[in-house]
Amino acid sequence: MIADERTAELARNLQAVRSRIERACADAGREPATLIVVTKFFGAADVHRLAGLGVRDVGENRDQEASDKQAECMDLDLIWHFIGQLQTNKAKSVVRYADLIHTVDRRSLVTALDKAAARLDKVQDVLIQVNLDPQVRPERGGVDPADLDALVEHVQQASSLRLRGVMGVGPLGEDPAPAFARLAQAAADVRRAQPAADVISAGMSSDLEVAVAYGATHLRIGTAVMGSRPTVGYRRSKGGKNNEGEAQ
Ligand SMILES: *Cc1c(COP(=O)(O)O)cnc(C)c1O
Repeated sequence: MIADERTAELARNLQAVRSRIERACADAGREPATLIVVTKFFGAADVHRLAGLGVRDVGENRDQEASDKQAECMDLDLIWHFIGQLQTNKAKSVVRYADLIHTVDRRSLVTALDKAAARLDKVQDVLIQVNLDPQVRPERGGVDPADLDALVEHVQQASSLRLRGVMGVGPLGEDPAPAFARLAQAAADVRRAQPAADVISAGMSSDLEVAVAYGATHLRIGTAVMGSRPTVGYRRSKGGKNNEGEAQ
């Protein structure tokens, strides 16, 4: 384990976040939710520090950055979550390292991921991302709740994909409670079609307590653990773009 000031900072932040999660789960009378530390924009050294501090789950939102970083962390026993918007031409790459893909939101992506997973003889765990904005905004990703049932069926027909549940991102600058209530409803709809699909991925640094109150099982926490994201993208020098725009 790397022992330095950064490790101490991460340890402090983790402790604070873990106690927020514990309290929120206790208040909701629920089992502890899984903490996914979102490591986007931060390098492999931080991932090693986090692993040394007992983190098991990490989240990334860009394929290039995630696949580079995962390659530098092969020695660690981690669960890799892909939480970013995904283009179909990245499906092949993402299925190589992602344990759970949170952002399946359209048929073409289901088809591409199914084919990519089949080629690797892998059964790929996925979540369906549900759009939680009061007015669906395509650039934010997520299936319109009205189209959820049809997409669930499509995933169920994909023999190399296993549907594990739903994911949602709270609307920008609005009360997260009604949005997470809609997600809980979507999760119940999915479980009716596939009872074992019990994952609800929701909640970020600012709204994890609300997410837990509405049944989140997996929390995606970036800033509260890692600190503010650098304004210049990860490895810009190697051609990576600054993606603050998608940083969410
Ligand atoms: C970056 C990101 C997070 C983490 O957000 P914080 O506010 O930094 O905790 C969670 N979910 C998604 C989809 C993200 O892109």
